[in-house]
Amino acid sequence: MTINNNQFIEVPRTDPAKLSSGTRVQNFAEIYGTYDGFIAGQQAGRCLDCANPYCKWQCPVTNHIPEWLRLVREGKLFEAADLSNATNSFPEFCGRVCPQDRLCEGACTLNEDYGAVTIGSIEKFITDEAFRQGWRPKINHRPDLSGHRVAIIGAGPAGLACADVLAKNSVAVDVFDKYPEIGGLLTFGIPAFKLEKDIVKIRRKVMEDMGVKFHLNTLVGRDIEFSEILNKYSAVFLALGTYKAINGGLESGKGVYQALDFLNSSMSLRGILSDDQIVNNVNGANVIVLGGGDTAMDCVRTAIRQGARSVTCVYRRDEANMPGSRKEVANAREEGIKFLFNRQPLEIIYDEDMIAGVRVVQTRLGAPDANGRQRPETVPGSDEILQADRVIIAFGFDPNPPEWFKDYNIELLASGLVKTGVYGIPQQTTNPKVFAGGDMVRGSDLVVTAIYDGRRAGEGIMQKLLAEAKIAV
Ligand code: FAD
Ligand code: SF4
Repeated sequence: MTINNNQFIEVPRTDPAKLSSGTRVQNFAEIYGTYDGFIAGQQAGRCLDCANPYCKWQCPVTNHIPEWLRLVREGKLFEAADLSNATNSFPEFCGRVCPQDRLCEGACTLNEDYGAVTIGSIEKFITDEAFRQGWRPKINHRPDLSGHRVAIIGAGPAGLACADVLAKNSVAVDVFDKYPEIGGLLTFGIPAFKLEKDIVKIRRKVMEDMGVKFHLNTLVGRDIEFSEILNKYSAVFLALGTYKAINGGLESGKGVYQALDFLNSSMSLRGILSDDQIVNNVNGANVIVLGGGDTAMDCVRTAIRQGARSVTCVYRRDEANMPGSRKEVANAREEGIKFLFNRQPLEIIYDEDMIAGVRVVQTRLGAPDANGRQRPETVPGSDEILQADRVIIAFGFDPNPPEWFKDYNIELLASGLVKTGVYGIPQQTTNPKVFAGGDMVRGSDLVVTAIYDGRRAGEGIMQKLLAEAKIAV
């Protein structure tokens, strides 16, 4: 194959086709299409193959991006899938939900002047298409590890990534989750218009074929005691997430929803929840969503799909300081969402027992906080009432570690996050047999960072099991 050094100029950056905003607000279908092999090869050929690939260093799982782009350009799909899945357990999820604009694509040399290589879309193409053509992950047959059985609690991206690493290395894995389907927030959080639930189900089948056993509808601490798990397995990985909704001191009443409750009763979950669990809370209503992160963007876009009359996102900083992905903010705008920046909610106003609006005060950005982000300060006397019939609170989540951790010497930090790494093995907690990762260790973060933690935990567990085997010999 001849290499065209000017392809990045001659072939413009082209994202996969996107449904028109008028069509997509009618349903919960994924809004981006996929490439065919020809377009994927053309787009991959735009890569400059930089000597120092910044995209790779900016990717939390340090994907071999230029190398798999080259394989796609050469039409070597299965080799690209082998390489892509070697560093990322779930490229088909990350290609869809990573905030590429502030990770790999934001670091691409072409980003400023020519448009970054469409790394995320090519990454999702590789595994989607490879699965479709029959490619499957390779199992590394390891007699030294095959006698072990590991329990994983939580089937979100962290738990699944740990299961993937262990199963690929011949360790038997049981994954427990309280929900009826795997995926954690991939399924019960992120709406289908960003990630179709069938994509998660395809991966579930692949993992089951690799020998991973899922025990769903099983809440550890109620349906099965942790002590039973600890006694039965060689090691345990905890990946329970963070679920204590922050409500910012606002009073919850009729017509006020917490973000996850709202998202998880939505038509996005048709086929996973029963029809009577699915409700349409905001049809015909004027909706205010409070918050400016990914969760808030998912709420505004879900509300408009439920037929809300108007949807306004109210955020206390300015647009430049919104934590949500730029791509998702742009998609929300196209779908008719209004944004009101520099407004801090003070209280929800009721008329009898129904919501009448939200009292807000204007803000301006002051001195930076401990994380370097400018702190919003309220402007005295600038209160106003924004009319609304429904309010959705999307301020994020605090840790909610179960009470039973203390019975097993699993120590927490003052924040409630799980302490790890004290004995030098990645992701190991203060109980040497127990590992932890994902949001419950780092706080609410990203799918790709949860995958990173899960993979490191899998490697840490293998390191521990091998060291113990040596001592026993
Ligand atoms: P989770 O995904 O939360 O999984 C934890 C699992 O543990 C759950 O399935 C839960 O049922 C299970 N569990 C908990 N306790 C028990 C128990 N006692 N017994 C059995 N099972 C238990 N990140 C992105 O990168 N891109 C996005 O676009 C994005 N959008 C998001 C949208 C929303 C609405 C939210 C809330 C988050 C979003 N995130 C996004 C963040 C991302 O989803 C999380 O960072 C990631 O899922 C964390 O993975 P995890 O495996 O640590 O936990
Ligand atoms: Fe980019 Fe995320 Fe894929 Fe890494 S995992 S290459 S950051 S889309």
